Amino acid sequence: MKKILSTLLLSSVICHSYAAPKNIIMIVGDGMGPAYTTAYRYFRDDPKTKIIEETVFDRTLVGMSSTYPARVSGYVTDSAAGATALATGHKTYNGAIGITPDKKPVETVLERAKKLGKSIGVVVTSQVNHATPAGYLTHNESRRNYNEIADSYVDKGWKTDVLLGGGWKYFIREDRNLVKELQAQGINYIDRYEQLAKAPTNKPLFGLFADVGLPWALDDINTHRLSLMTKAATKHLVEAKNPNGFFMLIEGSQIDWGGHGNDIIDAMGEMDDLAKTLEYLEEFVKQHPDTLVVITADHSTGGLTVAANGKYEWTPDVLRTIKHSADFISKKLVSENINAQSTKELFNFQLTADELSLLIESKKSPHKDASHNLYADKHASKVQQALLKTIKDIINARTNTGWTSSGHTAVDVPVFAFGENKEMFYGFQDDTDIAKKIFKLLEE
Ligand code: MG
Ligand code: ZN
Repeated sequence: MKKILSTLLLSSVICHSYAAPKNIIMIVGDGMGPAYTTAYRYFRDDPKTKIIEETVFDRTLVGMSSTYPARVSGYVTDSAAGATALATGHKTYNGAIGITPDKKPVETVLERAKKLGKSIGVVVTSQVNHATPAGYLTHNESRRNYNEIADSYVDKGWKTDVLLGGGWKYFIREDRNLVKELQAQGINYIDRYEQLAKAPTNKPLFGLFADVGLPWALDDINTHRLSLMTKAATKHLVEAKNPNGFFMLIEGSQIDWGGHGNDIIDAMGEMDDLAKTLEYLEEFVKQHPDTLVVITADHSTGGLTVAANGKYEWTPDVLRTIKHSADFISKKLVSENINAQSTKELFNFQLTADELSLLIESKKSPHKDASHNLYADKHASKVQQALLKTIKDIINARTNTGWTSSGHTAVDVPVFAFGENKEMFYGFQDDTDIAKKIFKLLEE
């Protein structure tokens, strides 16, 4: 009996072959640890209703993932090692792009998909040669070799049917104009969002919309630019009518930048753009059910906590109405008089007398608290940096948001999936398992 049962079980395992999805969309929310999707739920909550409204993250959550890098880098990953794990299934040292700790290049899921004849799309809000997209597109011993990475996209053979993001600085240089070279190869280059709608779908599309990363979502001419680019990219890929389908990487790159800056205003602005992108993709999957969408983070950033200082409250009210990034407000306050009226216009709420004097004081003696982190504007004046720090202090205090680091943390991250074969991502897994599962689906 036992034997029959195990034979039955075995054959059911063998017979259950996965109908592999035709299209695979991998999404990375850079730095989007579990506190970000929680914070986003309460940020999106409509306080006028009795219920807490469900978010797209709530309804698509399927599991968790560990994120630790190769042993040589300890337990806390950076985005390069994280992207390499998610893209290749190999752990590596922090800073490495698509190579193993002994510096051997390893194939990425994007490269395998290309080899198998799929169309390829990449859409990010950072520069397109930043760590996460680079981890899927190329191989380099350091994420900081930005020019080399950009060159490799062209020199090793253009891999994408659609590539959208920022990065003029790296593609249009004095020593080399990669855009001109690509145009000579028949690639359609655009540099304004308005051109997305009219881009012919019979040519590869390459769009760069900013010098480095795109502006913060809140400051961009389109506050949902990731969703806008994603819609254009999926349209392009669908209209290509490739019988083998497509593989696409989408990154909400700047959630991480908000985290590094301990900036809850922009962290939520970026989360909202990613959420809108997922909501659009839920509709896309209804129209194209042979599509799998997998979403995760490469790590968490900033040690975000939703409530801090021993107080049992998180009050995101002002975050819902604020219209500008913390950066934008700080730049304005450098030149404008700081008073109740000017700040009311910029913040879209009335500052208290104490908050006003904090701003006035930090403008007067900026030496006290210059904010510095990896993604801070290096060209910002001391006064602007001090104002930026104070603005974030005010908002963090108002909302009772907690931060424990200006860097990454090692907590596990959520995994979301919908569409065909989403079950493969249920439960606990490692970031390398996500790549392994995608390779498996590609080979079906
Ligand atoms: Mg990234
Ligand atoms: Zn980071």
